[in-house]
Amino acid sequence: MTKQGYELIGHPRLVRLNPNIPWKTRGNGAISLHIEGENHDKIQSFIEEILKTYAQVDDPQTNPGYVIAESQLPFNTYEKTVREIATLEETKQLLDSLGAKYKGYKNGRGLIGATASIAWRPLYDKTYEYIAYREPTRWGTLRQVDDTSVQHMDKTVLSTFDNYDYTHNHNRVVPNSPCPVLYGIRGDVAEDLPTAASLVNSEPVESWILFETNQGTDDHVQQTSISGIHPHQSVITTGIVNTIPHAIEGGHILFSLIDETEKIDCAAYEPTKEFRHVIKQLLPGDLIEAYGGVREHPITVNLEKINVLELSNHVEKVENPVCPQCKKHMKSKGKGQGYKCKHCGTTSNEPVVEEKRRSIQQGFYEVPVCARRHLSKPLKRMKP
Ligand SMILES: [Zn+2]
Repeated sequence: MTKQGYELIGHPRLVRLNPNIPWKTRGNGAISLHIEGENHDKIQSFIEEILKTYAQVDDPQTNPGYVIAESQLPFNTYEKTVREIATLEETKQLLDSLGAKYKGYKNGRGLIGATASIAWRPLYDKTYEYIAYREPTRWGTLRQVDDTSVQHMDKTVLSTFDNYDYTHNHNRVVPNSPCPVLYGIRGDVAEDLPTAASLVNSEPVESWILFETNQGTDDHVQQTSISGIHPHQSVITTGIVNTIPHAIEGGHILFSLIDETEKIDCAAYEPTKEFRHVIKQLLPGDLIEAYGGVREHPITVNLEKINVLELSNHVEKVENPVCPQCKKHMKSKGKGQGYKCKHCGTTSNEPVVEEKRRSIQQGFYEVPVCARRHLSKPLKRMKP
């Protein structure tokens, strides 16, 4: 842009949108730039040139679009697109009413993200991502990014997050897709990120950009009662665990959550790994706040994190009752049939119980780094 004679104002923005849209692209992100300069026609032909050169329009999932707007688009357009389903019709209506220039390719849905990206402002929260790009000759080949150096960076620059999953040896800064990105480092402090990048040993970096983003902000979640939950949203809902969490085929853990309005299934899916062990520790009566995306069939909250507010009291049998006369343990008469003293014949239905020890505590639990969504706020960012 600067080469074209335009001045870039602030950082370019990388904005992630509703992660639960079935027809979204992989990362469901859109990029916007705030620039100063005359001659919109020139900008437009420049953008179309870039799209012609780089957009992977052969990919059935890729439906690019661009928007050029002279005025700031309304913030609620962003809010709707990150939390709900924005339609192409309403997007075009808005753009037409503001006299914005735009073009959607193929099914045109890229316009929705482009519009939301311009509409986003970091009113409540923001983070940054330093994205390093590969030399074009290496695109599609295996990325060379040294794991140990990423771990060192992770432990050295503490304002970064989601860099490395130590439990699963997953180097999260490196994408899985065959895109031109070499790695991306996320963090709270823009000035720390070039320093963080300097600690990463990798193949040559062709260029880099520091984006301002809505990643790791929880902008996608909305607080609601259980009856207010709809498919494709991401929600925070408070309720009482209503069933003992149980495993289903595929290693997913499921339980039912209830409030005064309704009940709903919550799930920790297999990719959430050890988070499932936490969920298994929940018991009926526990009061929790559940964060997650809502899946449609069957309607289920796909948990991203939980906040355990109150643990219920549970007792468990520790031994058979003791006969008050003989001071000896009674014998069980069979499952659910009580106990009987074999010396004097005294019977009892009450075994000796103890309050169940819970291995889960009050507080937040989240999915591991390897399963984290772009928009999910890591606990590391939630600490006061
Ligand atoms: Zn007895």
